[in-house]
Amino acid sequence: MQKKEWAEQIKQFQNGPSQELKKKALQTRLLSYGRGVFLRGLIEFSNYCKNNCYYCGIRAGNHHVCRYRLTQQDILNTCKKGHALGFRTFVLQSGEDPWFDDQKICSIISQIKEMYPDCAITLSIGEKSKETYRAFFAAGADRFLLRHETADATHYRKLHPDVMSLENRKKCLYDLREIGFQVGAGFMVGSPFQTIETLAADMKFLEELQPHMVGLGPFLPHKETPFKDFPPGSLNLTLTMLCLVRIALPNVLLPATTALATLSEQGRALGLACGANVIMPNLSPPEVRGSYSLYDNKKCTGNEAAEEIALLQKEVENDGFFLDFSRGDSRVH
Ligand code: SF4
Repeated sequence: MQKKEWAEQIKQFQNGPSQELKKKALQTRLLSYGRGVFLRGLIEFSNYCKNNCYYCGIRAGNHHVCRYRLTQQDILNTCKKGHALGFRTFVLQSGEDPWFDDQKICSIISQIKEMYPDCAITLSIGEKSKETYRAFFAAGADRFLLRHETADATHYRKLHPDVMSLENRKKCLYDLREIGFQVGAGFMVGSPFQTIETLAADMKFLEELQPHMVGLGPFLPHKETPFKDFPPGSLNLTLTMLCLVRIALPNVLLPATTALATLSEQGRALGLACGANVIMPNLSPPEVRGSYSLYDNKKCTGNEAAEEIALLQKEVENDGFFLDFSRGDSRVH
């Protein structure tokens, strides 16, 4: 579809998806993945970051964050706990923290793979060189999440300092895909200066990239960032974008994000009803969860916590789905 056509679609549903659009998204998801909801255990292993994205609560310029790094042993212990709870995908997420060099990351990957060969490893650790991505893949990493955040270069400039570029972000995503990773792109809905046209550019870019996963949630402000006074993204527009992504990319893995659950009590259920089919409970050691604050009031307890899997299971079943404890690989090829 042309960018202009995407803009028209988004405009038509900017106040929320129609019943018809939701039905189409749900049907598409049922055809691709049935009623299963895949689980990912999220391990936030370092909140150090060298970057200064204007929207992010753990940006380098925020000196009010209590910084932490998990040790390799902490990470392995966390995987052990997650494996016992039934998780078969671990998402290792951090800021862009140079302390975790290639060797350390490769060692963590290979140790997890050695201990849990039945599990998939997803990395979410930012922009690296192609050689580094290759080394991670060779060590056993399966998937890589790198949200592009906006596919419009002018908008990208307004969200990030000059040292970062959309061009490099896109290059990383294409490099990852070429190496053989299952790749996740994605964006915030309602980020400052976003327009219908920039959202249309996001849809166009996703169509071109054909990612295996799309992480898509509302922008939520953090009080220690330059964007602290901007309003949060709209729940309804986020649901519209979930529907449109599901319909445009039927086989994509699409999380009902923590940001969506933070924005609204009903966020997760609504996300699942609009085509989402992945949930990422927080598996990080409870004592560090509060410090990985990308935005204010981020949920990390109750049904967002990995320990509360029974609670989550009940909730998901009430919504007409079931938790699928398999690795949950993408059906995009
Ligand atoms: S969004 Fe990512 S790269 Fe940007 S400051 Fe936050 S953790 Fe760092």
